[in-house]
Amino acid sequence: MARLVMKFGGTSVANIERIRNVARHVKREIEAGFDVAVVVSAMSGKTNELVGWVNESHKHYDPREYDAVVASGEQVTSGLLAIVLQEMGIPARSWQGWQIPIETDNAHGSARIARIDGAGLIEGFERKEVAVIAGFQGVDPATGRIATLGRGGSDTSAVAVAAAIKADRCDIYTDVDGVYTTDPRVVPRARRLDKVAFEEMLEMASLGAKVLQVRSVEMAMIHGVKTYVRSSFDDPENPQLGTLICDEEDIVEQQVVTGIAFSKDEAQLTLRKVADKPGVAAAVFEPLAEANINVDMIIQVVSDDAAHTDITFTVPAAEFERTRAILEKAKGDIGYTTLQSSGDVVKISAIGVGMRSHAGVAAAAFRALAEKSINIRAITTSEIKFSVLIDAAYTELAVRTLHSLYGLDKA
Ligand code: ADP
Ligand code: ASP
Ligand code: MG
Repeated sequence: MARLVMKFGGTSVANIERIRNVARHVKREIEAGFDVAVVVSAMSGKTNELVGWVNESHKHYDPREYDAVVASGEQVTSGLLAIVLQEMGIPARSWQGWQIPIETDNAHGSARIARIDGAGLIEGFERKEVAVIAGFQGVDPATGRIATLGRGGSDTSAVAVAAAIKADRCDIYTDVDGVYTTDPRVVPRARRLDKVAFEEMLEMASLGAKVLQVRSVEMAMIHGVKTYVRSSFDDPENPQLGTLICDEEDIVEQQVVTGIAFSKDEAQLTLRKVADKPGVAAAVFEPLAEANINVDMIIQVVSDDAAHTDITFTVPAAEFERTRAILEKAKGDIGYTTLQSSGDVVKISAIGVGMRSHAGVAAAAFRALAEKSINIRAITTSEIKFSVLIDAAYTELAVRTLHSLYGLDKA
């Protein structure tokens, strides 16, 4: 029998009425003949609340206990959905990550899935039982401790389960009806895409489009999982299929730029008057690498006198304070005069596989932003995307400007 994984995010299970609606979507697929595994998130806002409680309890909390706390949101919704399905006459049971098990590494708070044993789920299918799986969580087999997969991790749970049970399809139900050319909540003129290439989705997700967790896209690409993003707000009797994440070759009409993403989770640091000599960049970035801080954009400019230079770079906003502290400690080794920093920045990126074969795509953006008097603080480019760092106050204006520039606005 064909198998299907259906994942429902926080707004889709926000209360009992929404959970009933989810059950109706599940019922439809069962009646269509599928064996169904459902992956659920916590009710919307729940994970934030749990994280808040942990932070309030201790500044330097034990990450294993953080996971014990934040994994609980999904335990609740998996049980509730199983109950609601049973009430509708559909046999169902809940599964916590450790019960399946979904085995992970020991990186508590952002663990990676190492292995999933799908046998128990498949035995359940033989009894015609829907598997309702708590997303976002697994277990470290070495210690038996619960591990969570990082924010948005239920997407990854879903795709990983789909790969493990060789599902025909993995449907990610959310509060929008697919992947758009940019966040439709920021740009009402954003267009829904019927298809988006794995490589593009990977870039969009890692550059700030939170509609899918980056690792879920990686997983779908590696295991060839046919993944759709679609809406749980559709009529359960008459739903739309949403956006398919697929191979580049399967997209007929390819645009040069497919989407615009933005991320406010950035912080910029500038070291003034660093000696312009070999080994300086290493002195700055080695201690950050040792501290596992991911440096993104880097600019080194020559100052007026030939002996000194300025180095500007960005790190994730969450690492801002740690980065500052490390650089201040290393001031003697690096030898700079001042450290300037700003957390009030946003990284705006344009993504499209068509950039491989078209020149001048980024240059057009620089001109368009200049015409709106938006100052660019840093730039990076790679094969299928470019990013600019600007003041956060201009986020919407810049996203809309680029969205129109590349012909992405809906008619
Ligand atoms: P869920 O709780 O279902 O996992 P998320 O909030 O994680 O939902 O992801 C869905 C949200 O992603 C949408 O409400 C939308 O605002 C946002 N989003 C950002 N970029 C995009 C995009 N390019 N296409 C669609 N949605 C996007
Ligand atoms: N509930 C978790 C979060 O909010 C996981 C998820 O929703 O995907 O991050
Ligand atoms: Mg999500």
